[in-house]
Amino acid sequence: MNIHEYQGKSILANYGVAVQRGYVASTGDEAAVLAKKLKEETGTGWFVIKAQIHAGGRGKGTVTETGSRGVVLAKGLEEVAEKAEGILGGHLVTLQTKAGGKLVNKVFVAEDVYGPGASEPKEFYMSILLDRGIGRNVIVYSPDGGMNIEEVAEKTPERIYKETIDPLTGVTGFQCRKIAFALGLSGAASKEMQVFVKQLYAAYIGCDASLFEINPVLKTSNDRIIAVDAKVTLDGNGLLRHPDYIEMRDTSEEDPLEVEATAAGLNYVKLDGNVGCMVNGAGLAMATMDIIKLSGGEPANFLDVGGTADAKRVETAFRMILRDGAVKAILVNIFGGIVRCDRVAQGIVDAYKNIGDIRVPIIVRLQGTNAAEAKELIDRSGLAVHSVITLQEAADKVKMVLA
Ligand code: GDP
Ligand code: MN
Repeated sequence: MNIHEYQGKSILANYGVAVQRGYVASTGDEAAVLAKKLKEETGTGWFVIKAQIHAGGRGKGTVTETGSRGVVLAKGLEEVAEKAEGILGGHLVTLQTKAGGKLVNKVFVAEDVYGPGASEPKEFYMSILLDRGIGRNVIVYSPDGGMNIEEVAEKTPERIYKETIDPLTGVTGFQCRKIAFALGLSGAASKEMQVFVKQLYAAYIGCDASLFEINPVLKTSNDRIIAVDAKVTLDGNGLLRHPDYIEMRDTSEEDPLEVEATAAGLNYVKLDGNVGCMVNGAGLAMATMDIIKLSGGEPANFLDVGGTADAKRVETAFRMILRDGAVKAILVNIFGGIVRCDRVAQGIVDAYKNIGDIRVPIIVRLQGTNAAEAKELIDRSGLAVHSVITLQEAADKVKMVLA
């Protein structure tokens, strides 16, 4: 589950990680009131107004309606409302959004942390994620953080370092020192960075995250180390341990079909192809997508109806697949283990009749318990449903109907 920057920062702050402080606002007036409060609490005179959308690259992005950037500086309280209004309600287009951009409903009003001091502020890059290849968490970091990190990755990848974390020890003191040193820090700033890394890793483990990306981590001109940005992805499977995070979900940022699917207990991911598929079990769903590709089609979706698919769920799944105008054929691939094939077949026949006016060919492969009865049920129903027994037959049929 992706969350907004302001939510990510609140999680980090709860684990003691130093973050750029601020408040979230939905209107220009609210932004001004909160900026005033922030001034009283932090003493800051300047503010940054940051669009809250689930996409990065906001600093270089543009709000279509106003031409404003997605992250802007307000040099004084009197500028806050107007600058916030230049972002709120507009569509922010960044390198990570679609062409139409994303509607901005909220802005984060934050203290300016780049202000004057004894030295120049410096931006670093730091992320924590699971390296599935080695089955360990890694800290990826670079002394060249900030808005051009993609360019660093492309042109000077040797400037991006990686530290592998042993799950038994967690991040060690030695590793924290090594990171601070590689970032060119010494003295007070190095000490702060070591604490920062330690706490960041504790937060990552503690909240069951699957990704932290902090870009930039800032060394302020007073040698403080602060998270200025926070891209946090929480592991959806860990959410039951964190009921308070569930409300951080922003469904307006998600694909509406996927939101509806989750509510119906379906695991649905929209893809770009033309063959809709309905499968029970994630592994079988992956294999089905492979066979669709092998037969010259492209899957229109990933859809796992779960191990206990009943008639109702089958119907909901059909309706979702059919709503995708690109779908030219539907392949149903169910393995009857606990669930009986004839029950699923009945569900398909019922759904077909209930929905009515289905114009795309449906290929059904039911294998396992009561498969023969299921095939008979479908063949006898008189509907334009092709029932097949083997996966190869299914692939051949898909090829045939697409031709
Ligand atoms: P992103 O572009 O979506 O990654 O958004 P960021 O939160 O990383 O902000 C973009 C850029 O805004 C940063 O790289 C900084 O250069 C700048 N920025 C963020 N906070 C401040 C601030 O407090 N003061 C100033 N002057 N610039 C800031
Ligand atoms: Mn950033």
